[in-house]
This record gives sequence, structure tokens and C-alpha cells, in this order.
Amino acid sequence: RCGFVAIVGRPNVGKSTLLNQLIGQKISITSRKAQTTRHRITGVHSSDTAQFVFVDTPGFQTKYQNALNQAMNRSVTSTLADVDVILYVIEAGYFSAADEEVLKLLPDNRPVLLVLNKIDELKDKNEMFPFIEAMNERFKFHAIVPISAQKNLSIDVLLKVVEPLL
Ligand code: GDP
Ligand code: MG
Repeated sequence: RCGFVAIVGRPNVGKSTLLNQLIGQKISITSRKAQTTRHRITGVHSSDTAQFVFVDTPGFQTKYQNALNQAMNRSVTSTLADVDVILYVIEAGYFSAADEEVLKLLPDNRPVLLVLNKIDELKDKNEMFPFIEAMNERFKFHAIVPISAQKNLSIDVLLKVVEPLL
């Protein structure tokens, strides 16, 4: 399997840290799909059974609704409309207005995984269950995956959830 994965979220949720954890190996892309892409590729993660190609999405602009920002958002939206999977990253236990603004701009015809990052910062992991339940009730995510990008916790689980979607 080989497919394109976008990592999105407001600043500071840990997108770059996650990408850096994921792309330890530098291996060339073997899929024909990759040769036809117009995406900017930021890295590849290869396992025995799959290649995950991460693509760049210029950040969403949510502060000002001017013409330039709207045009930039349209460009991000069109990029996201043809990736295979979107990893929507927030901080575990914390859903802010800025997070919600990004969520609103995601396409509804792609699988979106809610990635709860920084679980290492939770004193009690059980704190997370009511939060996960509330997010599930409010929104329709393909899956919700708690991780720590920095401490390399459950990154393997995340990849296992993504792989069948490629
Ligand atoms: P980005 O703006 O979304 O790309 O976020 P960064 O990857 O730059 O991370 C923002 C801050 O969060 C940095 O100080 C990271 O070291 C920190 N960070 C990222 N992932 C984790 C994590 O899993 N746990 C903790 N405790 N901090 C993290
Ligand atoms: Mg970053």
C-alpha cells in the first residue's frame, strides 16, 4: 500500500514533532501514485507493508477573513481534498476555538483521524475518556488516536489505523 497523508492542526499542537518521529528513514517512493502527485512531499515512512507519504499543507489562516487568506484556505482545502487520510492534531483533553476553526475547513469526503497529542502531559490517562466521548458525540471522526509525538507513544498504533486507508 502507498498513499498520501496530511497532518493539520493549529500552531503548537505538535505537527512538526510528529512528522519528525514518523520519517526516521529516508527511502525512495516506490508507488506510481507518487509520480503523478502535485503535492509537496515532506517525508515518507516505510514499513514492510506500506509507504506513508506525508504532504505539506500551508497553514490555515483563521485570524482574518480577507481575500488573500480566503484564497490560501481554498488552496489548502483543495490539497486536502485529494490526500488519502487527514491527521487532525489537537492537544489531548483540550479543544480550543482555534482548533475548531481548523476543523471547520476540513473536507467531509476524506477520512479524518483525530490525533490527541501530548498524552504524556496528562497526569491521569483516565481523564481522556470523557473527552474522547464528548468529541465523538460532537463530530464524526474516522477514529480517535491518543499519542505522544515527543515521547514516541502509540505512533505505531496511529500507523496501523492509517494503513488500511491508503
Ligand atoms: P507545530 O506548530 O504543530 O508544528 O508544533 P511543534 O511540533 O513545533 O511542537 C510545539 C511544541 O510542543 C514544541 O515545544 C514540542 O516540543 C511540543 N510537543 C510536541 N509533541 C509533544 C508531545 O507529545 N508531548 C509534549 N509534552 N510536548 C510535545
Ligand atoms: Mg510546525
